Amino acid sequence: NEYRFDFSVAKKFNLDSDSFPRNAEWINNFHGFWRTNYRTIVSLLLILLGGILLVVVLAILTLRSRIIQKELKISRKQLEFMVSHDFLTGLPKIQTAHQIISEMICTGNRFSVVKININNFKGINNAYTHSCGDAVLARIASLLMELDQNEYFVARFDINTKMGIFNVPVESTLSDDDVLSAVNYALYVAKAGGKYKYVFFTSEMQEKIRNTQEVVKILEEACENDGFEAFFQPQIDLESGGIFGYESLCRLKNHTISPAHFIPVAENNGFITKIGRIMTEKVVMQMAAMRDEGLPLRQFAINYSAGQIVDTGYVAFLRDLLEKYDIPPEMIEIEITESLYLGKDQDSASLFRQLEELGVGLALDDFGTGYSSISYLTYLPVGVVKIDKTMVDIYLHDGKDVLIKNIINMVHSLGMKLIAEGIEEEWQYQKLKNFNCDVIQGYYFSKPMRGCDVKKFSV
Ligand code: C2E
Ligand code: CA
Ligand code: CA
Repeated sequence: NEYRFDFSVAKKFNLDSDSFPRNAEWINNFHGFWRTNYRTIVSLLLILLGGILLVVVLAILTLRSRIIQKELKISRKQLEFMVSHDFLTGLPKIQTAHQIISEMICTGNRFSVVKININNFKGINNAYTHSCGDAVLARIASLLMELDQNEYFVARFDINTKMGIFNVPVESTLSDDDVLSAVNYALYVAKAGGKYKYVFFTSEMQEKIRNTQEVVKILEEACENDGFEAFFQPQIDLESGGIFGYESLCRLKNHTISPAHFIPVAENNGFITKIGRIMTEKVVMQMAAMRDEGLPLRQFAINYSAGQIVDTGYVAFLRDLLEKYDIPPEMIEIEITESLYLGKDQDSASLFRQLEELGVGLALDDFGTGYSSISYLTYLPVGVVKIDKTMVDIYLHDGKDVLIKNIINMVHSLGMKLIAEGIEEEWQYQKLKNFNCDVIQGYYFSKPMRGCDVKKFSV
């Protein structure tokens, strides 16, 4: 016997299910279905949800690992590039060049290897800062990279290294710029020092940089506010005992810093071209003023620094001044040093030609310091050689003086005159006179003096 009842009808008539037979089967009893089956349903739902979650998580993980792998690939490529390429120019480093050259040799083909050196690169760094030097390198590299890279391979060769080292102190308050300029300076010293592979940045170097910065400020201010003054030191003709001429020497009006100190700073920081013109104008004006007062016109010497070679308008500037003040060009002597024609043949040749055309005299200053090759004298268009004070001090003594004597004779045999500088003592004057030296300049006769004193002196 089976009993079936409709649960919804029983509920409608408010019949208690307990009053029905125990083994009765109910239809339309959703409540009962849920009660008997809810565990199964919930389990199934949970499993389904879990499954969906798993699929989503797996999908995300796969995607992420793909992205990471892609990023890794890019970073590895970047790293490989950084290791094998020069940071500044982006050119392959020398190892790659070695590899390429070996590969090229293996092909058996004909090929050429060119090594380019940038002349006077140190000069660019010194005159226009290291970041400018960097920009020059990068520009040259980019120009070279414009060559068809299927045919040309460009790499940066830096096999000969020098190091500048800076130990940054604990709890330092320095900026990254400070640290880099310190290490740059140490490297500069290492490079200039020649034999040292590395140089540590010292507190003395720090002091020197600070001092240089101060001098730079002073020069800047002097250039803008007429802060320079020309002093003049007489040069004595040993034969006549009269005045041969004057050397003009630069002074700062409001500072006691000596030109031996500020001129090199001016050379390294671009002020020298300005100072060169300022001094030239002062000299020509002094000459004109003396002539206008009826004093005899004398030869005036102007110091010309190697750093002025970039001032290509200088000779024209001098010519205009001489015309304006009506001064004959042969009354001007330009004092040059040998550093002017070391490695800058083109520019110095053009300068010499222009000066010769103008008709001013040329003197070789500081002879006996530096390289002082005698052979220079045979092809330089100089009429006067100035023998340096250090050489006079060392070699004018008895027993060593034959060298000075020979130099004087040699200079004469080349048809030039000789001026001995830094003569402080009577015996030096006597000895040089006996050796037939032409002119002496030094404290023995007079220290450099102001323009107004020169006028009194020349009466
Ligand atoms: P310099 O061209 O060799 O000038 C000669 C230097 O020797 C001058 O030093 C002069 O005052 C000094 N002197 C002359 N006689 C004696 C002496 O008897 N004893 C001693 N101890 N010194 C003597 P100063 O005026 O201090 O100039 C130093 C250097 O600075 C010059 O050496 C020159 O290289 C440079 N300088 C000076 N004025 C100028 C300038 O207007 N333009 C350029 N480019 N350089 C200049
Ligand atoms: Ca001089
Ligand atoms: Ca000199």
